[in-house]
Amino acid sequence: MNSAGRFAPSPSGELHVGNLRTALLAWFFARSTGRRFLLRVEDLDRARAGAEAEQLRDLAAIGVTWDGGVVRQTDREHLYTAAIGRLTEAGLTYECFCTRREIQEAPSAPHAPQGAYPGTCRNLTAAERAAKRSLRPAALRLRSAVSEVTVEDLLHGSFTGAVDDFVLRRNDGVTAYNLAVVVDDAAQGIDQVVRGDDLLPSTPRQAYLASLLHIPVPEYAHVPLVFNADGARLAKRDGAVTLADLAGAGIGVDRVRDALLVSLGLPPGPLQAALAVFDPAALPRRPWVWPGLAEPGA
Ligand code: GLU
Repeated sequence: MNSAGRFAPSPSGELHVGNLRTALLAWFFARSTGRRFLLRVEDLDRARAGAEAEQLRDLAAIGVTWDGGVVRQTDREHLYTAAIGRLTEAGLTYECFCTRREIQEAPSAPHAPQGAYPGTCRNLTAAERAAKRSLRPAALRLRSAVSEVTVEDLLHGSFTGAVDDFVLRRNDGVTAYNLAVVVDDAAQGIDQVVRGDDLLPSTPRQAYLASLLHIPVPEYAHVPLVFNADGARLAKRDGAVTLADLAGAGIGVDRVRDALLVSLGLPPGPLQAALAVFDPAALPRRPWVWPGLAEPGA
């Protein structure tokens, strides 16, 4: 089968146990359905030198295997430019000169979803655009014809979310995540997107963009995150949460992998055994609170 799932980390630092748990889930979803599993480094933004190598090392250490080489977004600008060109040719983009503050202060359009771009630059004349260009560089926005879109998610069912005139290219020239992710998934033949459920609200925008680009919408599964004891999303500051930190505390990678598997209702041990019994319908639907792991004998 020429279909694929993927894990697409941003190389901003080491992966923590929450990221590793999501990676395991993406791997189980893909492998249990006969898909290839691809890795993409989302380095358009927030990249730290050395982080990619650490992330790949840690994924391999917990048993995640991937097919082919690793793809990096910074090598793929030509694909993003081509997609933006297609949208622009179809009259589906416009330049936006608004600052964040101007957007916050502008009155919102009637019936627009909260936080939606108010449309300030949507209908500028050529003369107005020329005048604004001399003041600051433009971002490029999508000229959206809808205000919401419904997507289907394997864990969440139907999910309806806002779609506004979101940014495709930022005014510093960097391609926006929502455009890059859609173009990359399509170009890599990815038809299954498994990722943290913090990204569910962005999914209607991505599915809409895919439809405008005549790209098939992938299957989605947005999986619960790992929380700290305060009920907030786990972060590096929550103590020993990376494989390196945990190893420093005497806790080996196999114990971390096993804790993650057990948290998913799966048997501990090498991933193949868990894969054999993996069942999306049986997955926990609530965030998992990271319990910390005690040093053996402590
Ligand atoms: N690079 C994003 C992140 O690490 C994930 C994007 C995705 O899976 O679509 O949060």
